[in-house]
Amino acid sequence: MDYYPVFMNLRGRRVLVVGGGEVAARKVDLVHSAGAHVVVVAPWLGEELRARLARGEIEHVARRWVSGDVANSALVVAATDDPGVHECISVYCQQLGIPVNVVDDTPLCSVITPAMVDRSPIQIAISSAGVAPVLARRLRAWIEAAVPPGYGRLAGLAARFRDAVKGRFASVDERRKFWERILEGPVADLVYAGRDAEAAERLAREIDAPDASGDAAGSVALVGAGPGDPDLLTFRALRLMQHADIVLYDRLVSDAVLELTRRDAEKVYVGKRRSNHHVTQDRINAELIRLAREGKRVVRLKGGDPFIFGRGGEEIGELMEAGIDFQVVPGITAAAGCAAYAGIPLTHRDHAQSVQFITAHLRDGSVDLDWPALVRQGTTLAVYMGLSGVRELCARLIEHGRDAHTPAALVQQGTLPEQRVFVGSLSSLPDLIEAHEVQAPTLIIVGDVVRLHRQLQWYRPEEKVEAADAPVEPVHTPLDPMPVTESANHAGRMAG
Ligand code: SAH
Repeated sequence: MDYYPVFMNLRGRRVLVVGGGEVAARKVDLVHSAGAHVVVVAPWLGEELRARLARGEIEHVARRWVSGDVANSALVVAATDDPGVHECISVYCQQLGIPVNVVDDTPLCSVITPAMVDRSPIQIAISSAGVAPVLARRLRAWIEAAVPPGYGRLAGLAARFRDAVKGRFASVDERRKFWERILEGPVADLVYAGRDAEAAERLAREIDAPDASGDAAGSVALVGAGPGDPDLLTFRALRLMQHADIVLYDRLVSDAVLELTRRDAEKVYVGKRRSNHHVTQDRINAELIRLAREGKRVVRLKGGDPFIFGRGGEEIGELMEAGIDFQVVPGITAAAGCAAYAGIPLTHRDHAQSVQFITAHLRDGSVDLDWPALVRQGTTLAVYMGLSGVRELCARLIEHGRDAHTPAALVQQGTLPEQRVFVGSLSSLPDLIEAHEVQAPTLIIVGDVVRLHRQLQWYRPEEKVEAADAPVEPVHTPLDPMPVTESANHAGRMAG
């Protein structure tokens, strides 16, 4: 071990910072947040430290450092640009046994500052002994991502109930088991979801009736799995997936996402066919309630966002009625994912001031939509479940006044390595689908913004796979010639 790690209590103690620039300001920031009484010795102060001085947060001694300054300091930080001064400070402090930190000069330090993850009262400090700070920072980024922001509040909650738990369980072993269950269970989930008061209530109940804990009530998390690329999951989605007892997923959830669920979790496919939609939806709702009542932590994993054409509202409606504990985790919806990965901004200062998410799902063989709103100038349409009704959709849009040349894109399996993008116009879209055998899931984007695809496309997954082999036909270039010329038409339209 190169260094012995300790956490220093600086509350109310004198910390001397020598230097008044930006680097010194960063150090002051840290020791100040640890509650230190900060004395800055420097002939001048930079902007940040001047602001702190004005707020009364530091004491300033406006001159060069002299050896007597270090007296009575719990810690000395040297942050000037003068290596000679740094050396003097280091030697002097070490003679007196005062911990000293010299920025960017590890050999002169008796203490070094780690990379930190702060979830006070939980603190994680990472050190590379000063030899690979970039590596330490990368580690920190991983840990930042893995430790929920609510971790500190969870620790605070545990502290509040510590005595009560001690009083309730005689043995250390019992207490440990109790806390393990609490800190990985629904109480923790409630804290992470920002529902601290409910978490406290639930914890209090569990302390009162620990014997009932074996069949404690389960919960359901309605989780948005995003459009397919597992990297687009939220941290919360991932955490819930990794703590689930059982995962109910549907057709749109990609294999790559599913692989990230806990290995031991039961995975149940509940994809539905259009014909028996209603029956199946009822069955899913009933199943969610049954499983939660059995005490399971259920994750209902849905493609995209649960509240966008996902029937999420219906599912939680029933859970609520049944008194089941639940939460909803948003996901990246297909429109956002497909648009980003196809290089088609859904809004754009010059081309579109609004975007409408619609479904062209055939009901009774016809598409029933608010046509005047959809043909309005400057609006982009993101069409979900639009393949089967595409002919009617395009015809009706044109009939209601949208230009037949309006650019339109098909994004099949957006964000996945299999993504395909085709660009045409309202009039050519139906034939384009047939010609290229475009299949679900496909998002249709209609509007002038589609024109930007040619310029802004950046996601070319096939190149990753095929790069080593012979060059392949690019599938992402617009296969249909652009029906409208860029400038002339566009300018005319925006003016009108
Ligand atoms: N709740 C989902 C939408 C469910 S409706 C969401 O927020 O994204 C199903 C439709 O979403 C599909 O028919 C298709 O139009 C669209 N869709 C979902 N994932 C997609 C993907 N990866 N690529 C293209 N379209 C997708």
